Amino acid sequence: AIHRVAVIGAGISGLACARELQSLGISVDVFEKSRGPSGRMSTRRTQDWSADHGAQYFTARDPRFIEEVQSWLQAGTVAVWEPKLKVYEAKTWRDSHSQDIRYVGTPHMNSTGKYLAEGLSIQYETTISQLERREHQWHLQCSEANEITALYDFVVLAIPAPQASTLLKGLDSRATDIADAAQMKACWTMMAHLPNQLNRDFDAAFINQEIISWICQSGSKPMRQGSTWTIHGSPDWSQDHVELSKEDAQYQMVQCLTSLGFNCEDADISMHRWRYASGGLKNGIGYLLLPIIGLGLCGDWLNGGRVEGAWLSGFNLALALKQI
Ligand code: FAD
Repeated sequence: AIHRVAVIGAGISGLACARELQSLGISVDVFEKSRGPSGRMSTRRTQDWSADHGAQYFTARDPRFIEEVQSWLQAGTVAVWEPKLKVYEAKTWRDSHSQDIRYVGTPHMNSTGKYLAEGLSIQYETTISQLERREHQWHLQCSEANEITALYDFVVLAIPAPQASTLLKGLDSRATDIADAAQMKACWTMMAHLPNQLNRDFDAAFINQEIISWICQSGSKPMRQGSTWTIHGSPDWSQDHVELSKEDAQYQMVQCLTSLGFNCEDADISMHRWRYASGGLKNGIGYLLLPIIGLGLCGDWLNGGRVEGAWLSGFNLALALKQI
């Protein structure tokens, strides 16, 4: 039986897995390299503004995930967002007729991760750099000065595929091959305060066939204020230009925005590069469980991408772990 599990990564998949394992009576420690939970479901905050710079919203289709989202709604950690949405395509704007129910974390996108992290043992600012299995026990090493002395029966990697691949090298060739088969793409993200931009007649827009693929006014989401826009580069353009400097990426995105009719004069802009934003395996496998070496993999990249896929991947891995 499994008594003690280490979960690497406090994104939505790692948090879902850790919570479910803990509720089954298993002792769980989570290790996270950044300063807080929630991973790519994230928020950038400065003194003057805040903006969701990773996931913009999420949808729920699977019955088990819908049930989970209902509990988040009740806890007030998510709300429904009903934006006035447009689509820009072939140089023309049109209304979007999408009927999706869209959810956002409240008051920030990362509030949901913070909510899920409550009651879990999580060590932040700890980057796991190596895993070693000796005598049926896992030994963890981290890049920072502190030492991880606890030993674990089982390790869950809840991190993007390229980062999982690095940790898996030499441990299990099948798992490494699966991680290497995943194609993840970058995303250049621009957070812009546009003082000279008059209010547009939409809250957010899907932009097709341009280097920008999404633009959203942050203040249109529940419990937010202010006029900061979040703008995402398209996956293909971002991936092809992943090595640009922030200045050069910003220059190209501002040119595109201007061509879309935005007034970018005197803009106050902050850029973020997500190296592994979206994508994954062509045919999702949900999660990967290797009981013999005591290893599990979960994350959006194994399950169709997106917040819903990430949560289900972590949750279902925990259920499968219970069976061994
Ligand atoms: P992550 O959130 O990446 O979590 C992994 C965690 O592991 C991170 O916190 C990371 O810091 C940590 N970590 C990595 N390596 C280590 C290590 N060695 N040691 C310790 N910790 C480590 N989804 C939607 O549903 N709707 C959207 O609109 C949407 N838009 C998006 C826009 C952008 C720009 C981005 C980047 C993503 C978007 N997504 C969207 C995708 C969504 O954010 C992800 O599918 C989901 O958040 C992934 O969760 P995860 O747990 O699989 O991975």
